[in-house]
Amino acid sequence: MWADIAKSAVDAWCADFLHTPQRAAILAAIARAGRPLLPQEVLELAATEAPTLSIATVYRALKKLSDEGDICPVALAGEPMRYEPAGREHHHHFQCRGCRRVYDVPGCVGGSGGLVPTGFTLEEHEVILYGRCASCAVPGEGRGVRA
Ligand SMILES: [Zn+2]
Ligand SMILES: [Zn+2]
Repeated sequence: MWADIAKSAVDAWCADFLHTPQRAAILAAIARAGRPLLPQEVLELAATEAPTLSIATVYRALKKLSDEGDICPVALAGEPMRYEPAGREHHHHFQCRGCRRVYDVPGCVGGSGGLVPTGFTLEEHEVILYGRCASCAVPGEGRGVRA
């Protein structure tokens, strides 16, 4: 009997693990950030509105919201998945080598830059810039270390 009760509780939790306020808080955090967020960053930003959120719930929620098309995954080689709002205009990303944050870069270099071989057809491109963000750049030093 207790097993049945426990099972039905788990089933209910699985069916509706993402309570509406939590879902709203996660979507709001991603929309507000203006840059792709890691699950940990989502948790920190959403915590003010949804203090009971756990990192496990955030991971599950991000997967679900991504499957449903509310947010888009942003994959950088060798990096954990980040997420940004769905439906953004074509844009690119800049990763800071200091703080590892990823920022949106508005605009585009355009086309292929003449790199596509003759006879090939370009369908899309991704551009990722690497460097240091304004907070991590140290004036007068090529390789600054954040204080
Ligand atoms: Zn930085
Ligand atoms: Zn582009």
